[in-house]
Amino acid sequence: MNPYGNLSTQHSSWPILLVIYNLPPWLCMKRKYMIFSMMISGPRQPGNDIDVYLSPLIEDLRKLWDEGVLVFDGFCKETCEMHVMLFCTINDFPAYGNLSSYNVKGHHACPICEEDTSYIQLKHGRKTMYTRHRHFLKPHHPYKRFKKAFNGSQEHKTTLIPLTGE
Ligand SMILES: [Zn+2]
Repeated sequence: MNPYGNLSTQHSSWPILLVIYNLPPWLCMKRKYMIFSMMISGPRQPGNDIDVYLSPLIEDLRKLWDEGVLVFDGFCKETCEMHVMLFCTINDFPAYGNLSSYNVKGHHACPICEEDTSYIQLKHGRKTMYTRHRHFLKPHHPYKRFKKAFNGSQEHKTTLIPLTGE
């Protein structure tokens, strides 16, 4: 995020927030239950150096997972051992590349399609465009036959894998 809006593009701020997920859903997204862990701030994005900034947090999370910490449970009125786990991260796609070392640029940038990522290279701008997203739609979805808005082509491929519910 840029705290100065469009006034300064020479600054990069990456807030790291922790959300306690074993609270009821109507509470876990409230500001007072979020932990503002750190702010990575500077003239440039941290890029792959983000692991250096995150290492103290990862160290703490690892300790809380392995050893846990004694806390007082106000409901049961007794002390218990609390452990934590990192459930998931929410970030933009470039940061996903920094955090996971996954390649998020080039011809095979889609983490779902991988080698089957469909792309075209723009002739003049040399930019890579990712295409054929309609193959994720249901087999008889009307957009699959709709030529006019999709480069004059229909989509016949279906790669939708139904979720099992587990
Ligand atoms: Zn894809």
